[in-house]
Amino acid sequence: MTPTQQVKRAALDIGFDAVAIARAEPLVEEMKQYQEWLQRGYHGSMAYMERNPEARGDVRHILPEAASVIVVARNYYTPFQHEKGQVGKIARYAWGDDYHVVIPPMLDALSSAVAEIVPGSTSRRYIDTGPVLERQWAVRSGLGWQGKNGNILRRDMGSWFFIGVVITTAAFDADEPMEDFCGTCTACIDSCPTSAIVQPTVVDSTKCISYWTIETKGNVEFPLPIAEHLDGWLFGCDVCQDVCPWNRFETPTTEDRFLPRNDEVALYPTDILTLQPDQFVERFRHSPLKRPKLDGLKRTADYLVTPAKVMPSKDD
Ligand code: SF4
Ligand code: SF4
Repeated sequence: MTPTQQVKRAALDIGFDAVAIARAEPLVEEMKQYQEWLQRGYHGSMAYMERNPEARGDVRHILPEAASVIVVARNYYTPFQHEKGQVGKIARYAWGDDYHVVIPPMLDALSSAVAEIVPGSTSRRYIDTGPVLERQWAVRSGLGWQGKNGNILRRDMGSWFFIGVVITTAAFDADEPMEDFCGTCTACIDSCPTSAIVQPTVVDSTKCISYWTIETKGNVEFPLPIAEHLDGWLFGCDVCQDVCPWNRFETPTTEDRFLPRNDEVALYPTDILTLQPDQFVERFRHSPLKRPKLDGLKRTADYLVTPAKVMPSKDD
């Protein structure tokens, strides 16, 4: 096997479901689009997304001798569904253990494999934790195409997968970008409850339920259009992925840690409102639901149990 075939074999043996490789070249066109997205304020209060533009545009600012970017996917689909009209829904990616806990050891194992295949090489791994444009690298490498909902899609896995990246000085053969199979479909754009997909592949976070329920602090109130269209979501939102035709035939993950904790794909908002801090810490250890903190979850739960809170008063 060639070194490229060996590293791809290693990625699959470690447990990744797909792997593709790009040359570690500057993301010139991608950065232009990213900067425009920032300039329009579509990142909302996520100021960290403005930091380190040099590294985002060129991974050689992270690893000067970088030659390749290995991009991997790990399926998190489990065969459970929300019930119609369910309130307190959790986005699918957050049903099990946090990917920030599950995936890094796999990326470390891949980095070690690279060092064995190409002695003397060095690598850095990322999964949503540094100034690396994972989605753009997924497109560059041909891991998938970017759907109109902004997510990376594959015909064999839909979009229910995490993306990890290993930047390495080892030079491997690069793959070709994947064809875009969205075609004339606009199901995600048409179904978004808050019209957050402002043009194909472009999501305005400040209109997105996921952003408000996950990324904003508990003392931040939701704008009326968000509060009125929460559609039962307590943490995140999967509407634009649930309607995607490529997500109809997903194969369940082999990672048990992505199974819903306690078989729960939703939580009763009233239970959240009475949760004590020590119970929160215990219950959501290694869970993505820790991110908005207890007061953030309670804030969203409050909107779900008090729809009147978002209705204009008679005096308005
Ligand atoms: S996650 Fe929900 S709110 Fe955000 S773009 Fe998708 S459908 Fe719209
Ligand atoms: S719903 Fe349709 S347009 Fe949207 S990402 Fe899926 S295939 Fe593409």
